[in-house]
Amino acid sequence: MSTDQERFADKMLQCRDCEAQFIFTVSEQREMTESGQPVSDPELCPNCRQKSPATTAVGDRQESPATTVDSERQRGKVKWFSRQRGYGFIIVEGSEEEIFVHRTALEGVYSLMEGQEVEFEIETTPKGPEAVRVSPLRADAMPRTEY
Ligand SMILES: [Zn+2]
Repeated sequence: MSTDQERFADKMLQCRDCEAQFIFTVSEQREMTESGQPVSDPELCPNCRQKSPATTAVGDRQESPATTVDSERQRGKVKWFSRQRGYGFIIVEGSEEEIFVHRTALEGVYSLMEGQEVEFEIETTPKGPEAVRVSPLRADAMPRTEY
């Protein structure tokens, strides 16, 4: 039986990712043993190990099914808006869909007028779709055909 498991030596290895040669040092091998890990040759050089996706930080909130924002700007017409109540509805251009709009979703204005043309994004909340980043459509921002 050989009990020479404590016998380490620097090892020259090649990175599987960038193919660079790197040294798997005795001290690294010893650290592995001391932290209770089996000593195995690393496949990646120290550089590639640092940017390895295996160590991606948790807390990535890529998937939040509750609230999604459709970042495309939509156009619509204000069906009605109550300044007193602080909300109203917008009819989406090209559809019959009525979208809830809250006062806090307005940009650059405090209120909307009935029939006013607006631009907005649709946010899907657990309660349903809501207009966000609502701004009035300026007449000179509209595409005009020359005549
Ligand atoms: Zn590498």
